[in-house]
Amino acid sequence: MPKIGINIATGSLQQAEMIVGIDLGTTNSLVALVHPDTRKPVVLKDQNGLALVPSILHIGQHGEITVGEAARTFLKEDPSRTIFSVKRLMGKSYKDLSSSQDLFTYKIIDEDKESLVKVQVGQQFYSPIELSSYILRELKDRAEHMLKTPVSKAVITVPAYFNDAQRQATRDAGKLAGIDVLRIINEPTAASLAYGLGMSPEENKTIAVYDLGGGTFDVSILQINNGVFEVLSTHGDTYLGGDDIDRAIVDFWLKQIPVSAQPKKEDILMVQSYRLAAVQVKHQLSMQSNAEVVVGGHSFSLDQFQLEEIIAPLVERTLASCQHALADAKLSINQIDEVVLVGGSTRMPAIKKKVAAFFGRSVHDALDPDQVVALGAAIQADILAGNNKDFLLLDITPLSLGIETMGSLMDVLIPRNTKIPFRVARQYTTQQDGQGSMRISVYQGERDMVQDNRKLSEFNLTGIPGMPAGVPKVEVAFLINADGILTVRAKEIRSGVEQEIEIKPQYGLTDQEVERLLLDSITHAKDDIKKRALVEARTEGEQLLQTTEKFVTKYAASLSPKELSVTAADMQALQLALTMEDKDLIHQRMEALNETSRPYAERVMDQAVSTALKGQKIE
Ligand code: AMP
Repeated sequence: MPKIGINIATGSLQQAEMIVGIDLGTTNSLVALVHPDTRKPVVLKDQNGLALVPSILHIGQHGEITVGEAARTFLKEDPSRTIFSVKRLMGKSYKDLSSSQDLFTYKIIDEDKESLVKVQVGQQFYSPIELSSYILRELKDRAEHMLKTPVSKAVITVPAYFNDAQRQATRDAGKLAGIDVLRIINEPTAASLAYGLGMSPEENKTIAVYDLGGGTFDVSILQINNGVFEVLSTHGDTYLGGDDIDRAIVDFWLKQIPVSAQPKKEDILMVQSYRLAAVQVKHQLSMQSNAEVVVGGHSFSLDQFQLEEIIAPLVERTLASCQHALADAKLSINQIDEVVLVGGSTRMPAIKKKVAAFFGRSVHDALDPDQVVALGAAIQADILAGNNKDFLLLDITPLSLGIETMGSLMDVLIPRNTKIPFRVARQYTTQQDGQGSMRISVYQGERDMVQDNRKLSEFNLTGIPGMPAGVPKVEVAFLINADGILTVRAKEIRSGVEQEIEIKPQYGLTDQEVERLLLDSITHAKDDIKKRALVEARTEGEQLLQTTEKFVTKYAASLSPKELSVTAADMQALQLALTMEDKDLIHQRMEALNETSRPYAERVMDQAVSTALKGQKIE
């Protein structure tokens, strides 16, 4: 592919399609890309030279949205309509947040404690996904403005500890912002990539990524094996960061003046001035050994030594986390090959020193710690753009993969968003006595009924030796390799009969189709649950009829005429219920039949007349 030069400063000519890297942060977000000329990752800055977009949004009276620096002033002026730290809400239910609720100045609605949270602003409700999408849109706009070309593809980073729901929420936010999220990658992985770690295929290393930002701390232990990153462990504190350091500095100063001279809590402006003075001095101490400031008519000073003392307890907490993460990864300190620093607070010499001393090695700190994650995301984006062909990448499956089981139900073997390569196997059995073959139909999608999903392939496992229903053990294994190729293998374990096919899961499926399938699954979620329940009830009902019939035929001699006639009537009633759309009725009829058969089934079992029924459930 011919490369076309671009001047990021002037925004002159560009490539047709750029893939950007986005760090969607709790306090700040950034967008970066690998410069086509220099082949170096760079963050995109606005007209004022600012790279960071504060992750803050303000929603005006008429629903107008302001994002970033412009929204910051509203934090004080209009707190109930100004949203910050939305990342903390991603993929969370109200229940998850109840302990930290008072840290938010805006309203989080709590009607349904189990479902995903919503933020209420005026009369409107916003999901964290939607709110994040506004930040992402701002980044997309910034990139398009700077590059003078449409930008619709991105790699977005998330903390290593994000679960599936949080990752999916991030992906959905991207989609909503008109961004095709090619990949969600872990922040520590991105930071390591920014330092070139893991970029050579034979590299095998263990890395500790220490990330201390404004409000959160986490440490991740990563292992790179032949270009594949794996998170061995993470630990941290979601409420520990530079903000705590600022508070500690203010407290240190306040102890030096009489209580009567200290600002009152209500004097928000003065409290704020103290905080800002602390931030200023803290930042200065990252470059010089002491600093002074005048605030509220008092002059204060701070030197490196004092600062180290003040922050010692906080640093200790982070190092205890590192210890934890190492223990979880079953590693000792000397097994760590590289240490990477991330987050604005790691600019502090005191922190660098302590972290280096803890790990007993020098740390990677050459890059801007606020930018490393975005820079690494840009490197990943560049790899995805095909500019670095030797590099092996891990992907995730965009949709669930499974097979059809009884009643046309989808049985998911690989849930969507599973990291690949991946392998899973599950056992199935036959429904009919003497069944010699089994059809394996492979589907992709999120709906409960297979007909609502997309059929990928179908094959027959033939040659199953004649056995009673339920006896054969057919193991169906799904294996997706790193290229996204799915191999489905079915094997009858007792006889060893085996068959396999290879499928390319994404072949022919456009992003729009993936999106539609996902949307459908959300829209139809309630219907699907109902349908599934009905199908399950019918399948159970049919099974019960079959088992009862077998039993009654076999042991007719041991049953009284009354038992036989009542059973026949109950069976007929159940048979009728199976033709109707009422799962509760089916359950009632099943229960009635069970009630009827229980006494004689127990009797027959007790007499140990049969071994054939062992393991069957007749309750
Ligand atoms: P982040 O969330 O990664 O953007 O980190 C922001 C935090 O880093 C804030 O608490 C800042 O005060 C802190 N920070 C930024 N620059 C410096 C610096 N030069 N020295 C010390 N702390 C800094």
